[in-house]
Amino acid sequence: MAARPATRHQELVRQLESHNHSYYVLDAPTVSDAEYDKLYRELVAIEETHPDLRTPSSPTQRVGGAPREGFVKVTHASRMYSLDNAYSVEDLDEFDRRVREGLREQDVVQYVAEPKIDGGSLEVKYSDGLLARAATRGDGAIGEDVTQNVRTIRALPLTIADTRTMTLRGEVLMYREDLATVNEQRLAAGEEAFMNARNAASGSLRLLDSQQTAQRPLRVFLYDMVERHFKTHVDMLESIAKLGLPSHRRHRVCNSLDEVKAFIVEFDKVRHTLPYDTDGVVVKINHYDQRDRLGATTKFPRWAIAYKFAAERAATKVIDVSCDLGRTGAITPVAEMEPVLLGGTTVARASLHNYDYVAAKDVRVGDTVWIEKAGEVIPQVLEVIKEKRPKGAKAVVPPSECPVCGTPVKRIEGEAALRCTNTHCKGRVKAAIFYFTRRSAMDIDRLGWVLVEQLVDTGIVQDVADIFALPTKREELIALERMAAKSADNVIAAIDEARASRTFDRLITALGIPLVGTVAAKLIAERYGDLGTMLEREPADIAAELAEIHGIGPKIAESVSAFMDDKATRALLQKLLKMGVVAVQPKAAAPVEGPLTGSSFCVTGVLTQPREQVHASIRDAGGEVHDRVKKGTTYLVAGEKVGQSKLDSAKKHGTKIINEQDLAHLIQS
Ligand code: AMP
Ligand code: ZN
Repeated sequence: MAARPATRHQELVRQLESHNHSYYVLDAPTVSDAEYDKLYRELVAIEETHPDLRTPSSPTQRVGGAPREGFVKVTHASRMYSLDNAYSVEDLDEFDRRVREGLREQDVVQYVAEPKIDGGSLEVKYSDGLLARAATRGDGAIGEDVTQNVRTIRALPLTIADTRTMTLRGEVLMYREDLATVNEQRLAAGEEAFMNARNAASGSLRLLDSQQTAQRPLRVFLYDMVERHFKTHVDMLESIAKLGLPSHRRHRVCNSLDEVKAFIVEFDKVRHTLPYDTDGVVVKINHYDQRDRLGATTKFPRWAIAYKFAAERAATKVIDVSCDLGRTGAITPVAEMEPVLLGGTTVARASLHNYDYVAAKDVRVGDTVWIEKAGEVIPQVLEVIKEKRPKGAKAVVPPSECPVCGTPVKRIEGEAALRCTNTHCKGRVKAAIFYFTRRSAMDIDRLGWVLVEQLVDTGIVQDVADIFALPTKREELIALERMAAKSADNVIAAIDEARASRTFDRLITALGIPLVGTVAAKLIAERYGDLGTMLEREPADIAAELAEIHGIGPKIAESVSAFMDDKATRALLQKLLKMGVVAVQPKAAAPVEGPLTGSSFCVTGVLTQPREQVHASIRDAGGEVHDRVKKGTTYLVAGEKVGQSKLDSAKKHGTKIINEQDLAHLIQS
């Protein structure tokens, strides 16, 4: 191995992980996405030609592996306790009293107060400097091994500069803004939105397909360690932060309970400005020797308590229950309410999720209900205050027809949602267009909801492709109500800009393909380069081609293939092309030029070298590697004991059959 690629590889790994740290741990990005991608692609390219550099701790190995059948159980080295709760100042006084009772008179008690993060519990073990294992809490004694999933979380370094075994505990979470984007994409793809960041985080952690976990923008804060490598909690927190491990960095040492109380008051004032949800303050003993002397009850440690803030709720009256229609036709019931102040904003609408939820909570028009903010997404109805139910409160009847187009609704098996099946339904079209223009998608945010409604209602726009004809319809735009010439020109400029410069991965995201998040969208976009090229592929080939990509599981590949197999979808994509939406993806790793450039190879049978090595030498010489013979495969490199089916398919596709020596000749030519 020449020294240079290995050195460069090491340098790239270091840089990428350092950027991950700045972005996901310090919340202070140091490079643009484009620059990060460039480094990443260079790393991928080096590993293509030097597969031996592709070690498990390379950032390229964060994309997740093959789906599993179930999780392996993990017995925790020491119990993962839940925390005792305090809801009042008196509860805190009582906790302090018990602590002092359990310690010696001469002990100096120091507390550490820190945010209680609303996510899912997680245990992460590092040994010999490597992220070795991750597990959920489970019942406290036995959890589930979620290592593959946790490796996809970029906040967690795969390696640390400390070889001691460290069993760390913390919280896996999702930022509110990320949750909003994920939910937007889920609704667009016909999946149900997560109720809150906590559900999203713990649900994502327990997905059997880690490649789907990789699509979820998860983060981790670590706040406890099982081993006694340090004397105090604060030492531990500060030391792990120096190792690049993620922590909340919002703890404060308190020398008295009064200082703890002051922290709680202060924290309550600022917690809404944090990008993630918190629901309290955890108060812990700082010195480990004191913790060990206090011990635990069967359920809780005696050295910590969680002070919980009252959930932010408000009571208001349901005036009506209306329906929101998604782009896949999913019909979501929405409570229209008397406006009420909640978490600093006035709200008048709250999600009821689906009609099963409405029935389970027995929400009726006229009821007074408790509503709560789930992250910053949309508020949701929590429960009905039954004592306040007026006579004649009207039960909510699930619609039998689409409220927009009148088509009978369908309930898809195994789903809670009711759907309008009419693909031309104006309600669905509006939702599709609106989603298409969102910031995480094609980013044409000048096209707000009101304008989208007007455009669809007047018939000027009938599908997302029609958006790109608007620049030629300036007069019609200006003729719309409340549309000044200047705003029309702004809209037109934004559309032209999107047409010219949005990359292919954004277009893929904008189309809302089930299971395809932004990570998969990028991989797909890099595989095909632009919309036109992808459209030329057969849907069946697309499934096979995508399944070959590291980071795209069979489920995602199938979903894309089915999407591309749909007649209406194909017509729409053709129309987008005609409108000049070319959607080019910046080139992935530049292919190597060499004697095999332009040829593709499938390697099979028993060879004198490991197959990986043969693949590498093909790629080194500029050739492409296929994992099976298919249309367009130039050569089948056959070793000993080749199966008849391979030979048959080579014959079928006109693939030349050669042996290992022939390959060596080709490479040397
Ligand atoms: P609960 O589930 O409400 O009983 O609260 C206990 C859980 O709070 C623990 O299992 C942790 O997952 C979580 N938690 C969140 N933030 C912290 C923190 N800073 N320290 C300890 N536990 C925390
Ligand atoms: Zn409809």
